[in-house]
Amino acid sequence: MTGYPLSSYKGEKVDVSVGSVSFSKDSFTVVAGPCSVETEEQILKTAETVSMLGASILRGGTYKYRKSPYTFSGLGDKGVEYLKKASIKASLPTVTEVMSIDKVSYLSKNVDMLQIGSRNMHNTPLLKEIGKTKVPVILKRGYMATIEETLLAAEHIAKEGNQNIVLCERGIRCFDDSLRFTLDLAGAILLKENSKFPVIIDPSHATGKSNLVKPLCLAASAAGLNGVMVEVHPEPRKALSDSEQSLTFDEFADLMDSLSIFTKNKNKITRSVGD
Ligand code: PEP
Ligand code: MN
Repeated sequence: MTGYPLSSYKGEKVDVSVGSVSFSKDSFTVVAGPCSVETEEQILKTAETVSMLGASILRGGTYKYRKSPYTFSGLGDKGVEYLKKASIKASLPTVTEVMSIDKVSYLSKNVDMLQIGSRNMHNTPLLKEIGKTKVPVILKRGYMATIEETLLAAEHIAKEGNQNIVLCERGIRCFDDSLRFTLDLAGAILLKENSKFPVIIDPSHATGKSNLVKPLCLAASAAGLNGVMVEVHPEPRKALSDSEQSLTFDEFADLMDSLSIFTKNKNKITRSVGD
């Protein structure tokens, strides 16, 4: 990290509010939902379940980046409509990915938070356009981006006037291909140390394996990060995208249980140290 004074990205920590939910230094926010909105029933069932289990924000891809042009690429506006209905029924704010400038206005009116995907982190015109709004945004680290490039991508948004940014480490590409990507946990901590924005991780896309999601969520909590984004599906094996990394409802329940037990224990330890 040379050439840029990292201290320029710092400042008083920013709390990012999404409706009544806040990504702040004192909270651990769980964003959960399917990779893609597939049917009205699927997103509704998932919304109600993750809400009941304590998730704060409902995710669901509606416009999707796909490696192959022959795979499911999202329901588009129809998916946004289903996501909105599920949000109302389950009383959860929503986040979906925005892929292009022409959708910024429509999506910011219909969801509570936008997501800039890993592949678009370098799309400065899109970053600037979102910067001109006040809509909260999850900015994912590009899978080939350095920490510095990620911080500067956030600056492109912030400089236009939108400080409602949550940074997300979602795995980077490295020499080892045993997993889909490699979660850079130290990088996420470095992001948090060098930025005023909250930082979360996405262990689902980072690993591509559902069994690795829980331990990495616990690691994020232990590391003092601000939350996680995880993929959950009523029937992962039948999911139209990212089937292997999606948690079942039971697995999500177990994750939430472990996270709260873990957090409780951590609080206990903190209190006894303070006593
Ligand atoms: C997603 O969260 O739906 C997604 C596609 O993630 P990423 O941009 O990190 O690949
Ligand atoms: Mn996905």
